Amino acid sequence: MDEALLLRKKEVASEPISKERRCWQLLLRDGSMTGIMQFLLENPVFAMAAKQFDLAADVLELPQDLRERTKWPKRMIVVSVPVKMDSGEVRIFPGYRVQHHLTLGPGKGGLRYAPSVDLGEVAALAMWMSWKCALMDLPYGGAKGGVACDPRTMSQRELESLTRRFTAELLPFIGPKTDVPAPDMGTTEQMMAWIMDTYSSHEGHAVPSVVTGKPVNVGGSLGRREATGRGVAFLANRAADLLKLPPESRVIVQGFGNVGSYAAYAMARFGSRIVGVGDISGGLYNPAGLPLGEVSEYLAKNRTLEGCPHGQWMTNEELLVQPCEILIPAATERVITAEIAAKLQCRILAEGANGPTTPDADQILEARGDVFVIPDILCNSGGVTVSYFEWVQGLQSFFWSESEVYDRLYRLMEPTLARVLKFAKDRGVSHRIAALAIGIQKVAEARRVRGLYP
Ligand code: NAD
Repeated sequence: MDEALLLRKKEVASEPISKERRCWQLLLRDGSMTGIMQFLLENPVFAMAAKQFDLAADVLELPQDLRERTKWPKRMIVVSVPVKMDSGEVRIFPGYRVQHHLTLGPGKGGLRYAPSVDLGEVAALAMWMSWKCALMDLPYGGAKGGVACDPRTMSQRELESLTRRFTAELLPFIGPKTDVPAPDMGTTEQMMAWIMDTYSSHEGHAVPSVVTGKPVNVGGSLGRREATGRGVAFLANRAADLLKLPPESRVIVQGFGNVGSYAAYAMARFGSRIVGVGDISGGLYNPAGLPLGEVSEYLAKNRTLEGCPHGQWMTNEELLVQPCEILIPAATERVITAEIAAKLQCRILAEGANGPTTPDADQILEARGDVFVIPDILCNSGGVTVSYFEWVQGLQSFFWSESEVYDRLYRLMEPTLARVLKFAKDRGVSHRIAALAIGIQKVAEARRVRGLYP
């Protein structure tokens, strides 16, 4: 072999392998699903979602072929999103949309803008959306999307270009009958309005139901903005009633974005004392209670909670293990590790975020037996449920009052909690496995009865 070529081959072999290159390497080597599966399983968030699936599928005794058909994503879309930055430079951002299954209806799931976003993380979040929608009996498949970017460092103009171009790249794959995005970490109502506008411009007429979580004046639903956080608070309170906790429970919320802030306000309205809140920079703790209005004002002004004078400043890990009755992780995945689980001082773990607790931590919580877990796919399902209401209202062009929205939401959430607790008790499994098993069973059964085409 040519010496220069040999040298270059050696150089390439010693270069750190990017996630994208590793993906292609595996695909080219195997040229089969095995390569894709191996690539996904190398991602710690996907590996966690897959492990949870396996545990629940064991409880259901799913036959192997149905298990494989139900577990792996149906469709994974990877796009390059070029954006002209304010500096004049053109940057390419990787964007993803994973449709985990479409057996029961259009894909449904949020779009995440964060530096950590990659194909494996998005596939894991899409899988959780499948079980969540099925658990709540919503006529949807499961999907998720995102762009690897840091929205906090980008201007509004750059974010608008990114969102519109990402939408344009996804045009063949999204739509009211195929896949309906919504907000998630790092995305806002404004971005949903840009998606609706871009899609509608291509269709030649307004298509509000292509996206949910839109501003109310372009077809959004009353109550959607607050729905996830309020749903979390509703279930945390039901659990507190079941455990006969005192009304003035102490609450800690990790993440003070859409989910965390509305959950904190709703808990405070229910009479709880919010003793801790946190964001990406760290946590603020005050055993006497935090003034939420002033904390929010500080955050709006400074874009971080760091330096907020109303409590003691600490790391996120320290915040999670402070004494409280109700802990609400509402930020990101895998924050409750085995080490943290052993140190938790809460009675209720109400999972606002998706995937906050690792399977190792689950084992510790099960062995402890003193923490009542409200698993993510149940606890934060208020968001997708009101998204469903928004989609229905848009399709019918007939809009509901806020009290109708919440009345219907709580009438769906309460019996679902009861169903999960009953399954857990009857089968002797954790609340998480019960919730997953109910969702997985519904999807697997739908797959089985629809059969294979051709
Ligand atoms: P958001 O962007 O509005 O807020 C995220 C919050 O988490 C911010 O306060 C941010 O500072 C903090 N954060 C981010 N990374 C962190 C880290 N590594 N450590 C500690 N804090 C961190 O996002 P959101 O919409 O509130 O979503 C939060 C979680 O809830 C995500 O897991 C999301 O998937 C889940 N979720 C959101 C919705 C929804 O309707 N928005 C619905 C269901 C589930």
